[in-house]
Amino acid sequence: MVEGRARGTTPELASRLKSLRLLVFDVDGTLTDGGIVLDGGDGEWKRFDVRDGAGIKLAQAAGLEVAFLSGRSAPATARRARELGVARVAQGACQKGEAFAALLAGAGVAAEEAAYMGDDLLDLPALRRAGAAACPADAHPAVRAEVDYVCTDPGGRGAAREWIDLVLTAQGKMDGLLRAYP
Ligand SMILES: [Mg+2]
Repeated sequence: MVEGRARGTTPELASRLKSLRLLVFDVDGTLTDGGIVLDGGDGEWKRFDVRDGAGIKLAQAAGLEVAFLSGRSAPATARRARELGVARVAQGACQKGEAFAALLAGAGVAAEEAAYMGDDLLDLPALRRAGAAACPADAHPAVRAEVDYVCTDPGGRGAAREWIDLVLTAQGKMDGLLRAYP
C-alpha cells in the first residue's frame, strides 16, 4: 500500500498505472464527501468537487475513459455524469464486483487496464478485481488495508483528482496537459 502523494508510487504500482485505459469511480464517499441531503420529497442533494471534475476532464483529454459505479440511484449522479461527459454510469449496483466486470466488458477493457476507486466495504469486490485500486483518505479501514494507493485527500475533496494526477503522471501525460495552460 502507498499512502499519499508525498510518497509517490512504487515502481511496481507505477508500471501498472501505465496500463490503465479506464478509471472507474464509486460516487458517494468517493466523488462526494458521503453526505446525502434529503429534501422534503423524493429528491436528494450531493456535493461534488469542481477540481475532481476538472481532473476527470483532464483524464478524458489524455485519452482515458472514466465511468461511475454507484450502489445508490440518484438523478444528481446522472446529472454530474452528463456534465462531465461520462457515458458509462452504473447506478443501483449493489453487487459491485459483477457491475465492475460488466462495465469492463461494455468498454472492451481488461481488468488489468481498469482502475477502481471506492471508500467502503461494498466496493471491495470491485477493488479486488481492478488492475489498480485506490481509496480516499477517509475510506473504511478495511478498504484502506486492501488498496494499492490511499490518497492524502478525502472523498469529495480532492481524492479523485489526486488519483487521476497520479495516473496521468505515471503515464507521462501530465507535462503535455500542463503545456495546454501556458
Ligand atoms: Mg461509497
